[in-house]
Amino acid sequence: MQETSTVPDRAALLTMTARFAPVDISADAAKLSDGDRKALARLVEAARIIDALFLRQVWAGNDALMQQLAHESLAATGTDITTRGSKDPRATLHYFLINKGPWSRLDHNKPFIAGVPSKPEGANFYPADASKEDVQKWLDSLSGDEKARATGFFTTIRRGADRRLTAIPYSVEYQGELGRMAALLREAADLTTAPSLKKFLQARAEAFLSNDYYASDVAWMELDAPIEPTIGPYEVYEDEWFNYKAAFEAFITLRDDAETAKLQTFSKHLQGLEDALPIDPKYRSAKLGELAPIRVVNVVMTAGDGNRGVQTAAFNLPNDERVVREKGSKRVMLKNVQDAKFRMVLQPIARVALPAADQKRVSFDAFFTHILMHELMHGLGPHNINVGGSATTVRQQLKETYSTIEEAKADVSGLWALAQLANQKAIDPAIARTMYTTFLASAFRSIRFGINEAHGRGIAIQMNYMLDKGAFRVNPDHTFSVDDAKMTDAITSLTREIMTLQAEGSYEKAKELITTLGVVRPQVQAVLDKLTSVPVDIEPRFTSASAAR
Ligand code: ZN
Repeated sequence: MQETSTVPDRAALLTMTARFAPVDISADAAKLSDGDRKALARLVEAARIIDALFLRQVWAGNDALMQQLAHESLAATGTDITTRGSKDPRATLHYFLINKGPWSRLDHNKPFIAGVPSKPEGANFYPADASKEDVQKWLDSLSGDEKARATGFFTTIRRGADRRLTAIPYSVEYQGELGRMAALLREAADLTTAPSLKKFLQARAEAFLSNDYYASDVAWMELDAPIEPTIGPYEVYEDEWFNYKAAFEAFITLRDDAETAKLQTFSKHLQGLEDALPIDPKYRSAKLGELAPIRVVNVVMTAGDGNRGVQTAAFNLPNDERVVREKGSKRVMLKNVQDAKFRMVLQPIARVALPAADQKRVSFDAFFTHILMHELMHGLGPHNINVGGSATTVRQQLKETYSTIEEAKADVSGLWALAQLANQKAIDPAIARTMYTTFLASAFRSIRFGINEAHGRGIAIQMNYMLDKGAFRVNPDHTFSVDDAKMTDAITSLTREIMTLQAEGSYEKAKELITTLGVVRPQVQAVLDKLTSVPVDIEPRFTSASAAR
C-alpha cells in the first residue's frame, strides 16, 4: 500500500461524478396489501443496515472516513462553493457514497481522497497485516471442515489472541447488524400476507443468526409474492484475492405483473422457435430442457454491493453450488433500473450515433423485450453435442471463446426470435418496427464498456457482421442506420453461422469469428469518441423507499 499525492481537484471530481446521471427510481406499491406495505417498510429499513455493513466489508477505514466527510460537509453548508477553491467536502462525500469508498470504481479504483491507501484487494475480509501469500499458506495447511469454513462464503479471516489466523463466522463478525436485520425481517414476516415471502423472511432471519444460509436460499428460489426481496451476503467480486467471501447486498423489489405475463407467453413459444431455428434440423432439440425461472421486478431500493458504481440491471442467484444443483438458480431482471439506463444513457447515445429521423425508432419496449428474449435464447440451440463420436458440451469445446460466442448467439438469435413472433402476431408488431434500430443504439452502449469482456466483444462481432452485410450502414455524417430488409437476412445467417459452429464444437471457427469481427473498427470508434459527455451510468434516488413507512 502506498500513499497517494495526486487526487482530483473539485472540477475534476464533479466531471467524474457527472458520469453517473442522477435519476429517480420508483415502484408502484399501490396494489400491495396493507400488511405487505408495512412489511416493505421494514425491508427498506433492513436494507439501510446493509449499506453500512458493506462499507465495513470494503475497507476497515470506511466508517471513520465517511463520518469525517459528513462532518466537513455539514461545516461547509451555507458557505459559497465558488469561494472554497479546490476543496468541496460535499462533492467528495457524494462521490464517496457512489463508490462506497474513496476509490473510483470506473477508474481502476484510483483513490480520489488524499492520504488514503490503495484499495485493499482482499477488502476487509482478511487481516490488514496479512499478505495474500500468508493467507494462501495458511489455507493450504488446512483440511476438511476447517478448510471449508476458511474458504467459505460467510466467514472473515482474523488473527486470534495468539496472532494465528482463524475463520470468524459472519454471524459473529457482524453480530450487531445481523441481529437488528433479523429482527426487522421477522417483523416483516409477521406483517406480510404472502406465505412464500413469510417463509423466506423467517428463514433468512434465522440464517443471519446461525450463519447457515441453505434453507433460506431454497426459500428464495420458491418465492412467489408481490414483494421480491434479495437480501444477504452474495457476490464475491469484492474479494479480489480469492473470490471466496460474500459481500452484503439488498435488492428490495416488487414483481412486475405485466412483464411476468409476457414471459409466460414467450415460454409457450420456445419449442416452436427451437423447431424453426435456421440450422440443420439434426442440430435442433426435439424437447427443450426445463427453463430456469426468470423474475421481472421493479426496484424500491438497492443497497450495499448491489448499489455501488455501475448499477446492476439483472442478476443470477444464488451462488451456493449445492442449492444450484438441487434447485437451480433464478434470474432477476430490474425493469425500472433498465428503464432509467435507457432514458439517461441509451437515448443520449442514440442522439449522437443515429440520424435524427431514426432516433424515434429507439424504444424501451423493444429494448427490454429483446433483453428478455436474449435470456430465453440462452436455453435454445446446441448445448450437449457430439464431436467425433463422443458426447461433450459446447462450453467444453469452445473453451475461452465460449462466453463471447454464447452472448452473441443470445443477442442475434433473440432478434431472430422476436421477428418470428412478430410474424405470428404473438408480440406487438410495433416491437418489430423498432427493435433493429434500438439494437443498433444499444450496441454502442455495450461496446463503450469495452470489448475485453464477453458481452462487449459479442456485440462487436454482430456490429461488424451487420456492417459487412450492409444491414448497418455508415452515413456521410458518420451516423449509423439500419437497413431493415438486409437486417432480416443478416440476423438469420449469423444465427445459423454461430449455432452451427456451436453444434460442431468448432473452437477454430469460434476463434476465427472473434479475431476477424470482435474488434472496434474506426467508424465505430469515431462514434464512441463523440460520446464523452454522455453519462456512463445512473445514480439512483429511491423515491418510493423514502415514502415507505
Ligand atoms: Zn446473456
